[in-house]
Amino acid sequence: MRTDIVVIGGGAIGAAVAYYVKLADPAVGVTVVERDPTYELASTPRASGGIRRLFALPENIELSKYSIDFFETFPDTMAVDGVPAEVGFKKNGYLFIVPPSDRDVLRRNFDTQRRRGCNVVWLEPDALKQKFPSMNVEDLGAAVHSPDDGWLDPHSVLMGFRNKAKSLGAQFVADEVVGLVREGNSVTAAVLKSSKRIEAIHFVNAAGAWAKDVCAMLDIEVPIEPLRRFEHYFESQEPIEPLPYLKDPQRLAFRPEGRGYSGGVPTLAEPRGYNFAVDRDYFENAVWPILAHRFPQFERTRCLRTLPGLYDQNDFDGNVIIGPGADGLGNFHLLSGFSGHGLMHAPGCGRAMAELLLTGSFQTIDLTRFGWQRLVDRTPIREQGII
Ligand SMILES: Cc1cc2nc3c(=O)[nH]c(=O)nc-3n(C[C@H](O)[C@H](O)[C@H](O)COP(=O)(O)OP(=O)(O)OC[C@H]3O[C@@H](n4cnc5c(N)ncnc54)[C@H](O)[C@@H]3O)c2cc1C
Repeated sequence: MRTDIVVIGGGAIGAAVAYYVKLADPAVGVTVVERDPTYELASTPRASGGIRRLFALPENIELSKYSIDFFETFPDTMAVDGVPAEVGFKKNGYLFIVPPSDRDVLRRNFDTQRRRGCNVVWLEPDALKQKFPSMNVEDLGAAVHSPDDGWLDPHSVLMGFRNKAKSLGAQFVADEVVGLVREGNSVTAAVLKSSKRIEAIHFVNAAGAWAKDVCAMLDIEVPIEPLRRFEHYFESQEPIEPLPYLKDPQRLAFRPEGRGYSGGVPTLAEPRGYNFAVDRDYFENAVWPILAHRFPQFERTRCLRTLPGLYDQNDFDGNVIIGPGADGLGNFHLLSGFSGHGLMHAPGCGRAMAELLLTGSFQTIDLTRFGWQRLVDRTPIREQGII
């Protein structure tokens, strides 16, 4: 079989790439190879769904700005045969709260966000308490609220991209890439578990937390590791005012969900690996103390459900690696290492990858600094004060 572009992995990222390529040039052949069309273990359906402009790096802010605007009109833009692709966008805002010691870095980020046209509001502890009376602000130095951000349903985003990409002519193949054929500085074919081969001009590694295994097929080492993280569903016995998506200094991140709340406390101390075991004590030991400290209403809270999922954690600097160049390969493109931000950046990164594939360079948002070269140069590009 022959096509123009093979995308390895059909999660939100791979499906977004397929959509943007077909949108830009319907004549280009795109084949997405996804080994599990039920997406049982894929990260996308296990995500919390948070989408926010609150970043420090210009690249991430611009990716969010484009992507969140895109999500606002997603149902209509991605409609197929007149059926809207609903994603349940709740524009209920995001809130970063910090201790006094982190005020300066929060202020710098706030200034950057404002300069880039984000709707962000600086809140002193008094104003924060007025806005969210249930919150304990005694140990806080300041907060930034972004009212236009929020959360949505990750599985619907994935299905929206997938269905629209298919309607535009992208092929989704239910199979697994088990090998890649290299000739000189190019990959020439993907070998599938079914023994089929697909020859192509470009190959995109959108395998998320499994990206390093795909790279290993070419003897390429990447610093992207699977990192287990739990998403908990819990309820409060006592009422709390409507909350935005909250980011607490101790890495607690949570938001309202139905009658209760959804969130967790990701930790980089977690051993890397494909671990989907549920630690039943994690909520009580690691999440509940932070929750109950911030909102006394959670003193008697119960965790009703814990879902494990994997980050595609870039241990080099916590940002996506996008584009070619690994081991001198000009047509093997990475698009992984999102480290917890992949859902919110799927539209922006899908479009960026399509630009690279079709024109050879970034046309809208310049993501050159997120390329492979920074690994070669040993120049990590880290967020500041952003989890
Ligand atoms: C608990 C949790 C909460 C999160 N919360 C958020 C959030 O609030 N906001 C946010 O933006 N992000 C969040 N994320 C991160 C987000 O889920 C990911 O960054 C994003 O889903 C990555 O999408 P993906 O398509 O790269 O990966 P995936 O959805 O994992 O898709 C990769 C696909 O590749 C397939 N695959 C792998 N290897 C092969 C192969 N060899 N051949 C064929 N197919 C293959 C897999 O089957 C999989 O379906 C969260 C993640 C977790 C785990």
